[in-house]
Amino acid sequence: MKQRLSILGSTGSIGRQSLEVIAALGLSVGALTAHRSGALLEEQARAFRPELVVLTDEHAARDLAVRLGDTPIRVASGREGLLEAATLEGVDAVLTAVVGAAGLEPTLAAIAAGKDIALANKETLVCAGALVTAAAREKGVRLLPVDSEHSAIFQCLQGCARPREEVRRILLTASGGPFYGMDRSALERVTPQEALRHPNWSMGAKITIDSATMMNKGFEVMEAMWLYDLPLEKIEVVIHRESVVHSLVEFQDGAVLAQLGAPDMRLPIQYALTWPERVPGPAATLDLLSCPKLTFSPPDRENFPCLELAREAARQGGVAPAALNGANEVAVALFLEGRLGFYDIPRLCAAALAAAPKVAEPTLEDILAADAGARARALEMV
Ligand code: NAD
Ligand code: MG
Repeated sequence: MKQRLSILGSTGSIGRQSLEVIAALGLSVGALTAHRSGALLEEQARAFRPELVVLTDEHAARDLAVRLGDTPIRVASGREGLLEAATLEGVDAVLTAVVGAAGLEPTLAAIAAGKDIALANKETLVCAGALVTAAAREKGVRLLPVDSEHSAIFQCLQGCARPREEVRRILLTASGGPFYGMDRSALERVTPQEALRHPNWSMGAKITIDSATMMNKGFEVMEAMWLYDLPLEKIEVVIHRESVVHSLVEFQDGAVLAQLGAPDMRLPIQYALTWPERVPGPAATLDLLSCPKLTFSPPDRENFPCLELAREAARQGGVAPAALNGANEVAVALFLEGRLGFYDIPRLCAAALAAAPKVAEPTLEDILAADAGARARALEMV
């Protein structure tokens, strides 16, 4: 079991639930980081007494340093601060819960410093799966999944103990989000407020919109490819409205293993920290007798084009997924601000994918350039 952790993005949905798990398990905290939520970070710092806290926003960090003046806790800021938090000595794992491609460089830094990664920030693997998994292999560090579907697969694969050839396919379950069953003409008119009302999970705004467009599931397909070293064809998506079966693995002999549980992220977060051990924790228990009827259906690829866009990016490889992700981050932010319609999200993403340069084995610089290029192009299109 991990003993001392740093959390990148501790004020977010995953970050806050991670601290609940850490408190319940009695683990200690090395560093906590956030973007600009100083008040909550101060509260967390006083409760968990880390060595270092970081706000990427310089102004908010100066303010926090004054407020924490009566404690020995060090306050840092900016990109450097985030990298320091990712590599802090005496910490055995870093939980990456920042949102977006902003998580990529700190995750690579943490791996280079030999830290195991409890990975929530899926955009890291979407943008740079080859680089990140190669770095982890080289350093002998583990990428432990926090995403509920990937944790389910991890559990079915017994922590990767079995050879990959035994896997016939992976079935990633998807709730379908708030707009499941709607057609294009209805989807054209949905508002950010409606999109933010996820039926089963309470999450950060960005991933909630990604769930509504199904881009989230497309990203999770890529995340599974990298985490479990499987080709795209072996990863399928099935709609499961109830979010009780968190994903399934079908083996060569036809056996299908699944992991079931209440929709509660604290369980996959905890397993990433305690693996291979299982201990009591704060997650809700599944009551089979009162849980809804479990249903399964195929995804609607026509009305939710983001799923196929992500698969196409995975097929193209190179910097295509990073370009797709960059455009998606811009499009989602603009949709949330009310400046774009729901269907503009796939429109901007498709354009980014079409314009993505072909780079066979991209370096970090290639990936960051593709990300920046896609963001600029998406903004120009608006
Ligand atoms: P969130 O928006 O609630 O929290 C994001 C955190 O990152 C906050 O602490 C914020 O201060 C920080 N942050 C935001 N922008 C930043 C930047 N540019 N630089 C540094 N820090 C920044 O997000 P969330 O829902 O907790 O999701 C975090 C990650 O976990 C995402 O990659 C998401 O896809 C993944 N994930 C989330 C859930 C969930 O249930 N929320 C489930 C599976 C995977
Ligand atoms: Mg998920």
